[in-house]
Amino acid sequence: MIDFFLNQEQRMLREMVRDFASNEITPVVSELDEKGEFPSAIIAKMGALGLMGIPFPEDYGGSGMDYVSYSTAVFEIGKVCASTAITMAAHTSLGMTPIYLVGTEDQKRRYLPPLASGEMIGAFGLTEEGAGSDAAATKTTAIREGGEWILNGGKVFTTNAGKAGIITVTAKVLEDGDDKGIGAFIIEADNPGLKISPPEKKMGWNASDTCQIFFEDLRLSSKQLLGEPAEGFRTFLKTLMTGRISIGALSCGTAEGAYRAALNYSNEREAFGKPIHRFQSVGFKLSQMATEIEASKLLVYQAAKKYDEGHSVVREAAMAKLFASETAMRTATEAIQVFGGYGYIKEYPAERYFRDAKVLTIGEGTSEVQKIVILREILKSLDRAISF
Ligand SMILES: Cc1cc2nc3c(=O)[nH]c(=O)nc-3n(C[C@H](O)[C@H](O)[C@H](O)COP(=O)(O)OP(=O)(O)OC[C@H]3O[C@@H](n4cnc5c(N)ncnc54)[C@H](O)[C@@H]3O)c2cc1C
Repeated sequence: MIDFFLNQEQRMLREMVRDFASNEITPVVSELDEKGEFPSAIIAKMGALGLMGIPFPEDYGGSGMDYVSYSTAVFEIGKVCASTAITMAAHTSLGMTPIYLVGTEDQKRRYLPPLASGEMIGAFGLTEEGAGSDAAATKTTAIREGGEWILNGGKVFTTNAGKAGIITVTAKVLEDGDDKGIGAFIIEADNPGLKISPPEKKMGWNASDTCQIFFEDLRLSSKQLLGEPAEGFRTFLKTLMTGRISIGALSCGTAEGAYRAALNYSNEREAFGKPIHRFQSVGFKLSQMATEIEASKLLVYQAAKKYDEGHSVVREAAMAKLFASETAMRTATEAIQVFGGYGYIKEYPAERYFRDAKVLTIGEGTSEVQKIVILREILKSLDRAISF
């Protein structure tokens, strides 16, 4: 990625992840995609290399690095295999972050080390059948009974759920019949009240695991409440803010992978006696792709760097996610065009990048939702300017 953002340690991490992706993932990426096979062995190796808990302190088993480092790693993995990258990103940004942000010391010590080592996989369930963009419309309930919480309801589209050791979820907290707001809870996978569907069959991200989960009188001890009972939604908004940086990084990786494939192909493929990039209409596609990818990387690194410096990055993360995901989709579409008929054939990589790109404009907030978030932030500064 963009070198001036990276210090020596981050450059070394980038080289290590690049080598790992090229040696361990490239040889099997098509097979994983075709079979829809979860990359368990790869994730175990990534855990051993410290890649499953990059931005968390060493004290909790993490690598003690930051979001610039983490974004770099997601980008490098995403360039080669979006399914592996989303497994890592959902685990880190969504599975681990809420526990790190608001967990008790006991919860952090219990869950973060096995998650960071990759021994356990994390997942996060916010979306419901009737609560996607409107996530506050959650119908899942948590009722306090004695010292326990009883959850009923369920979540859809939960990445990693079928492979997870823990799933953090939101639920409407009801106490004595009163709605107290949305709380967050940690569910261990062996809880008998948890049911998990078979993995969804998807357009792309085929080797990642996406399931529905159901709670039927699922009992949790008070120790499984994450943060204050009514603070769950706020926690998840913060979680999504950091998650959007990682989806931005994954989008840059997907775009870069598609662009590199198109660039190489345009050099090898000849028509009318010359490489096709010598036709301006093909060459300009490459110029456009390269420029948009560079701009996307700048937005992602800006958000990551500001977050590492302790700022709230609601606006920056939404802009990075919006622009990078749309860039990934445009780039992957143009890459198919550069490949011509071969772009439509599975033997060539452009087709997989195209299928993997679309969901980037949907997950962790659709493009429309990012625009709502950005507009809200812009108008806040307008309010400040007017009142000043
Ligand atoms: C492969 C995959 C993995 C996922 N992983 C997870 C996960 O791990 N955890 C999790 O909780 N969720 C996950 N999701 C869910 C994802 O975050 C939601 O699909 C997404 O937020 C959109 O919600 P929805 O599908 O209900 O669409 P809807 O909210 O129904 O939106 C449908 C359309 O209406 C538009 N729309 C809705 N409201 C507005 C508005 N106010 N203004 C303008 N347009 C609007 C949307 O932009 C969209 O175009 C995943 C989804 C997929 C496909």
